[in-house]
Formats: sequence, structure tokens, C-alpha cells
Amino acid sequence: MHNSKLVYSDAFNLPSQEMHGYKIAFITDRPPTFTGLTGDRYTQDAAARCSLNTEHVPPVAGCECGFYAYNDIRRAHHELSINPGAFLIDVDLFGVGFTYTHGFKAESQLVNFLTLPKRCMRCKVLPAKKFVTTYKMNYVSFAYWQWELRCSLCSYSFKDQDSMSVLQMSQALNTPLR
Ligand SMILES: [Zn+2]
Ligand SMILES: [Zn+2]
Repeated sequence: MHNSKLVYSDAFNLPSQEMHGYKIAFITDRPPTFTGLTGDRYTQDAAARCSLNTEHVPPVAGCECGFYAYNDIRRAHHELSINPGAFLIDVDLFGVGFTYTHGFKAESQLVNFLTLPKRCMRCKVLPAKKFVTTYKMNYVSFAYWQWELRCSLCSYSFKDQDSMSVLQMSQALNTPLR
């Protein structure tokens, strides 16, 4: 998505339609936080910041900054299928925004809801019941807590402090989970 071409790089060619879209996010950390594929963390209602240039008020054409979303849910579903452990979220983007070939990039973002997987994210067989967190080490060697929704069997050995009900997670993220 980040490499897709800007359809409108001119600030006067801003999208006139509402910027409603879909994207995928991980849930990491304690307390649980939305985390993008690139590692950027955000709350349910957030304004974008630029990590590359402090002079930028995102989004800036030609820079990575700003919140992205697909306008077609099928693209988000495809990304979800190749990123196990991630969740599908429905978002509205606000402020200054650009139209991309596959969606939008904008100044601020509101997460409307998160779609819960029906099946356990570990065994992929039994119905998903509760969130549990495990400590992950990634290839650039920083570690983080990652939350998954699992069935009763696959969450059985987790301690209370490493578990959350769907309701507790919804409150922690300040976001409806469906
Ligand atoms: Zn920037
Ligand atoms: Zn399971």
C-alpha cells in the first residue's frame, strides 16, 4: 500500500467523498494498543505524526506519513490472509487527505470497530473465546506482547494477567469488537 502511486499529489485535488476504509492491525503491548504492519502504534482516535521529518504535518505527498486505508474491503481481507495474528478494522479518515490507487491517506483516523475472527487464531478449528498475550521476538530483535483471540483449549494454560475477555479488550481499546 505504501508503494502505491498517489493519484492526486496536488493539495487542491483532495477527495470530495467521505474517506471510509478498511485496514489491518495487530494488537500489541500492555495496555493493548493498535499496531500497524509497520510498527506504528495508535489509539482509537488519533492524529498522524511523521517519524521521518518533524516539519511534516501529515499527510505529506511523497512521504510515508499519514493514516492509510483501503477503500475496498477485499484488499484488507487479502492482507489479513497473509498476516496471521492481525485483525480487520473499519476506519474513517478525516482532515486533509489524498486519494491513492487503492484507498486514502489522511491526517487523522477514527477506528469504528474491529472484526473478531470466528475461529481460534491458533488452532483455526474451535470457536474463539478469549484474548491471550504472548511475548514475541521479531527479526530486528525487539520484543513485544502480541494479543490473539483463542479457543478455550488454546488459552487454557494462560495466567489471568495474560488473558482478557472480549469485553475487557473492547474497553481497553475503546472500540466495539464484532
Ligand atoms: Zn512525513
Ligand atoms: Zn484453538
